[in-house]
Order: sequence, then structure tokens, then C-alpha cells
Amino acid sequence: MSHSHDVFCTILPPHMLKHMATAGDKETCDRAHRSLEAAAAARGQRAILGPMAALLAVSPGEKRRTVYDAKNGQVLPGKLVRGEDDKKTKDVSVNEAFDGAGATYDFYRTVYGRNSVDGNGMRLDSTVHYGRNFDNAFWNGMQMVYGDGDGRIFNRFTQSLDVIGHELTHGVVQFSAGLVYQDESGALNEHFADVFGSLVKQFSKQQTADKADWLIGEGLLAKGIKGIALRSLKSPGTAYNDPLLGRDPQPAHMKNFLRTDDDNGGVHINSGIPNKAFATLATILGGFAWERAGKIWYETLTRRLTANATFQQCADATYESAGALFGAASAEQLAVRQAWQTVGVELTKGLVVVDGPKLPVKSAPSPAAPAPPLLRPLLPRSRN
Ligand SMILES: [Zn+2]
Repeated sequence: MSHSHDVFCTILPPHMLKHMATAGDKETCDRAHRSLEAAAAARGQRAILGPMAALLAVSPGEKRRTVYDAKNGQVLPGKLVRGEDDKKTKDVSVNEAFDGAGATYDFYRTVYGRNSVDGNGMRLDSTVHYGRNFDNAFWNGMQMVYGDGDGRIFNRFTQSLDVIGHELTHGVVQFSAGLVYQDESGALNEHFADVFGSLVKQFSKQQTADKADWLIGEGLLAKGIKGIALRSLKSPGTAYNDPLLGRDPQPAHMKNFLRTDDDNGGVHINSGIPNKAFATLATILGGFAWERAGKIWYETLTRRLTANATFQQCADATYESAGALFGAASAEQLAVRQAWQTVGVELTKGLVVVDGPKLPVKSAPSPAAPAPPLLRPLLPRSRN
């Protein structure tokens, strides 16, 4: 939990809420202000609850989910309304939070052999109905929190599986590379959350890269809002353009990298660049994106990045990962180079492929086989 004090990740970037707070009618402005204030309140509360995180983290097990109801208040976690063995409730938000956490758990467990966000069976806690008309969802370092949305601009935030996958992946990042939530490392934190958030949905729908929508927050924008989602990995900068929300500001190339003090240095903005690289790689490789492109990114996130990694270091690390997993000069490794070139990132010259872990890619590992030092083997994807 060494990075838990830095971790507070909202799905909506501040620039979007700030635009709403100035562009809409009085009611919209008030709601946007309340959502900004509620997020600020949650930040403060998280700091108080912080030490409890360690207690929640040290209880290894299998899939364990709990859902709480804040009943439109701002006290976390709220009233317990559904545990792992409980039946469906009548509350659609509760069931969506429960099912989305389950789909995310299943994705990481089946595809990468990871037991929950911390790799150690951490219980997945979610709180729904946070605040009143709260326009956001966030991971606070310990749990997921979802607002109901205001119904005019945003629908309820449990509705998008990619949003749930995105937020829980912030937990995975926190327990692996621990990318600092500022500037380029912060944009990478957002990037990995977007990549695996989208892959959770693709895996759950068993979609190939060419069939996937590559959107984050699809279905989240209320009827009448001009846009299809919060972000697009495939076409950054095209997700929405609406008088109330402004225009999707994400760049898709390094030449449009935005230097800003807002949004922790543009973490929700510049993430468009690596997002585009990943979607490009997955499209070049074809098939299920979680199998090869996703595996390269997972290896990179969990074994090859430091907390302050830059885009350049991330690109180089994905190239090394591809070499370790699929071989030097393999089609996968060459595609990684090509994908980064598409967004204006050239790999460092003379990169050597270090001897990577011999990870099982196509065949099942023998349970008796010892893991390489400091490395846990990836499990192959299940065919079930
Ligand atoms: Zn995020």
C-alpha cells in the first residue's frame, strides 16, 4: 500500500466538470460544483481512512465482493447491501457494481493469473449512490465509489463495464508499478486503466480487436448529449463535442502533447497518446487484444516500469516485454515498434532485449515448475 496516499482517481477529468460548471444553466452549474465538492470531500475522507487500507489488503482469498449503499450521503463505505454469496438485489446499481467487479476479477484471474487488484485476493469493495446526482466514479486507494449521475448529462456510473474495469485497474497499478499520478507517469496510470478497462469489456464480450468499440464510458452520456463516450482509445479526441461538456481534448500524437498544470499535468488528456499506440498494436496483431497486446502491456506494468516512468521508458519497456514474451524480432515486437511510431514515439536506439522470464504463452505451466526469482508466471488464458 506504499502508494495509497497518492491514489485518488476519478473517471471524469476536472476539465469536463469545470466546463459544465461554466457552460450550463444554473442547475447544471450547481450540480457540477457539487460533484467537484463531493470529490474533494471524498479525498479528505480517504486520507482519514487511509490506515485501514492495510487491514483490508492483507486477507488473501478468492473472489470476494461487497457492495455498500451510501444512500446519497458522502460517508464511506455506507451500508452493506450485498456480499459475495448474496442474491441479486432489486437495485440495479448494486447489481452492476457487483457484476462489474466480478467481470474485472475474472478477467485478471483468467487471462493473467492475477488474484484481485493486489494479486493477493484483496476484497473488492464498491459503494453506490454516493452523493446526490454525483457526476463521477472513483477509486480512492481502497475501494470503488460510484455516483448516480445527474440524469441530464451523465447516466449512473455503474452502467459502463469499462468504467468499472478502468477504476479497479487503478488498484492494479497502485499495487504494481505504482505510477505517480502526475505528468507523464500519471498519464500512463490513466492509460493502463483505460487499456485494461477496455480489455475487461472486450473479454467479457469475447470481442476481437476489430469488433471492439475501444471506448471508455460508452453509454454514460445521457440522451441528447453530443458524444459517444468519455474517451476513445482508437481515435483520441473524438469521443464528445457538446456545448455542456466542451470538446474531447485528447491528443493522438506526441506533437500535440499538452503541457498543463490542470488535471495533475494532463493525466486524462495525454493518456490519449499511449492509448492510441496500444489500440494500434492490438489492431495490427488482430484477434483477441488481451492475448498478445494485453499480455505485453501487463508484463510491462507489473514487472518493467518504475513509479516515475515516462512515455519513452514505457515504450522501450513494452518493446522489451514483447521480446521477452514472443522473441526478439518477432512479429509482436516489430508491431510494438510500429505502434509507437504511429504516435510519434521512437524507441531508444540499440535497445537490447534482456533475458526475460520464459513465460508460458501457449501451453499450460506445470504446477510444480518453480517460478523464476522475483517473477510470478503468467497463467495461460483459459479456453472455457
Ligand atoms: Zn482514471
